[in-house]
Amino acid sequence: MQIVVLLGAPGSGKGTLASMLSKLPGIAHLSTGDLLRNAVKAGTPAGLEAKEIMESGNLVPDTLIARLVEEYLVSHASLSTILLDGFPRNVAQADILAELLEKHEVDFGCALLLDVADEVVIRRISGRRVCSACGAGYNVDTLPPKKDGVCDACGSALCTRKDDMPETVQHRLSVYAEQTFPLVEYYRTRGLLQVVDGSGDDLDAKVKAAVEIIQ
Ligand code: AMP
Repeated sequence: MQIVVLLGAPGSGKGTLASMLSKLPGIAHLSTGDLLRNAVKAGTPAGLEAKEIMESGNLVPDTLIARLVEEYLVSHASLSTILLDGFPRNVAQADILAELLEKHEVDFGCALLLDVADEVVIRRISGRRVCSACGAGYNVDTLPPKKDGVCDACGSALCTRKDDMPETVQHRLSVYAEQTFPLVEYYRTRGLLQVVDGSGDDLDAKVKAAVEIIQ
């Protein structure tokens, strides 16, 4: 099994790219944001600890997220590739990941940076909507639902995630710049960084470029 770390600002399209890639055999997409949101919904101890921190746009403690990621890796050991989306989020987590991979004898494939300009990121996030019932994702500009404000899949109302509200978005972008962006250098200096241009709207081209890198 290999791990591919997806890097890119909030709204860079990592999640969309990963969900396309995970349709290929043997590839799974682990979004730590989704993992935490599910834990919050289910009211687990991890979810209770994470709820308020997430709503403020800050990062949950490294030990909490590392434990959830390790449980996932162990229970998905038969896969060929796991795309890590949202972890590591800072240099300390990158060191934790390296230790986890050594402990469980898992290969590090590469860190794949989806490179997108700041103004594109802000436009994309402000258009993002999510179904309040089934969690399906939409974007009013690039992936609109058939009927305004209504989920195609289950007919429930669409809403804006609390952490996609404009004031929280600015904060998340500065958390990214301060804590997560240094990972680009972290992996570049170790010869592990690959870059895909994420600015355009042609998803197929991005998927093709990513597949060539990770396979
Ligand atoms: P995301 O959907 O990846 O933007 O994550 C949503 C929120 O979940 C983040 O703003 C953090 O509060 C939390 N989160 C997700 N992944 C991590 C992580 N690796 N470390 C700490 N907090 C995380």
